[in-house]
Amino acid sequence: MDYYDVLIIGGGPVGSRVACKLAGLGYKAAVLEKHEGIGDHVCCTGIISRECGELFDIPQACILEAANSARLFAPSGEFLSIRKDEVQAYILDRAAFDASLAEKAEKQGAEYLLAACAKDISIRDEGVEVRVDQRGEALTFRGKVAIIANGFASGLPQKLGLGQIKDFIIGAQTEVETNGISEIEVHFSQRIARGFFAWLVPLSQHRARAGLFSRESPGNCLRDFLAQLAAQGKISPAEPGIIYGGIPLRPLPRTYDERVLVVGDAAGQVKPTTGGGIYYGLLCADMAAEAIHEAFSLNDFSKRQLAQYEKLWKEKLGRELQIGYFARRLYNRLSDRGINKIFDIVRENNIHDALLDSPHFSFDRHGELVLEGLKHLAPWRHLFGKKVRD
Ligand SMILES: Cc1cc2nc3c(=O)[nH]c(=O)nc-3n(C[C@H](O)[C@H](O)[C@H](O)COP(=O)(O)OP(=O)(O)OC[C@H]3O[C@@H](n4cnc5c(N)ncnc54)[C@H](O)[C@@H]3O)c2cc1C
Repeated sequence: MDYYDVLIIGGGPVGSRVACKLAGLGYKAAVLEKHEGIGDHVCCTGIISRECGELFDIPQACILEAANSARLFAPSGEFLSIRKDEVQAYILDRAAFDASLAEKAEKQGAEYLLAACAKDISIRDEGVEVRVDQRGEALTFRGKVAIIANGFASGLPQKLGLGQIKDFIIGAQTEVETNGISEIEVHFSQRIARGFFAWLVPLSQHRARAGLFSRESPGNCLRDFLAQLAAQGKISPAEPGIIYGGIPLRPLPRTYDERVLVVGDAAGQVKPTTGGGIYYGLLCADMAAEAIHEAFSLNDFSKRQLAQYEKLWKEKLGRELQIGYFARRLYNRLSDRGINKIFDIVRENNIHDALLDSPHFSFDRHGELVLEGLKHLAPWRHLFGKKVRD
């Protein structure tokens, strides 16, 4: 049996960031990753804010594109253009990004165990035990603490009695050949993407990621969306190789236990407004590493001590997640006719420009902007109050 200070379950961006921080502080850290390679089978559009790119020093080699504008489409096909002078976002090569974070963690001394799927976790008086299936062989790893960072639909928190994520949505995505799209497109329509939106994100002059999150049959919805884009001459028709992934829309009821923290998608640290989880996950990874370092320095791995982590991340992001989820629920109540109407109101009253110029404008923090947008829309609040019929 192998013994570590910290066992990190999941070698995605969040797990690797925690591993890098803790290995850098001198802890013996192991990352257990179920796939054979870091970044294998990732389903993500890879959009992050410039702020995230700079704060986490994301290597240029992982950035495929930079964006400072987008077109927001109403169900009617009308669109609003939004644009800032400076770069607002980067589009990442997610596999390369995950690999670069793992490489950094390894340089700090973290050990990676690949094809190592964590099946179970239990807390003992003297440490944590993680049972792993590595290429058919049953292994047990022991650590003083464990970080659960194995992404969406992790069953491990539930095994520890930390509850379950109560709302989530499934996404579908593929890569397409375009006829020269230069701006990010976001398509709002309950018919195309029930409860969320669809996107076309250029990766280069002639390649783009097309995808959507939907409460209903995301695969079929994506095929319909691709057919629509092809009919408009934006993309070349092709049989899509669709990949699927989910995101949590609400946080886990509890993200700590004695000797255990839960971070990233596994903890529900994702913006419910956009489904973006990289930035919040990385921020929380740093808070988790800080909390674990503190626990080691006090030699106190109790639930009470580790509760500090949840207090900290909720102080920083809790309100954002709450307002974002409220906005998502409001959007669910709109019909396509209601969405068209809101687009008209926004355009006629220049609300999009007012929001872009607002001091609250932020790519990552939408709470205040949502509240400001709702204030602008207050005279039309009936659109959200009852369902507008098509
Ligand atoms: C369609 C789609 C588009 C998205 N687009 C964006 C976007 O543009 N921008 C953005 O910020 N976010 C986006 N996201 C969300 C983003 O992908 C996640 O928030 C982010 O990957 C979370 O990182 P993580 O490390 O917590 O989890 P993950 O990236 O899911 O990593 C978890 C890791 O754990 C491993 N693992 C799983 N189970 C086990 C196990 N039992 N044992 C060992 N290892 C295990 C997995 O193989 C994986 O490597 C998108 C998500 C989807 C589904």
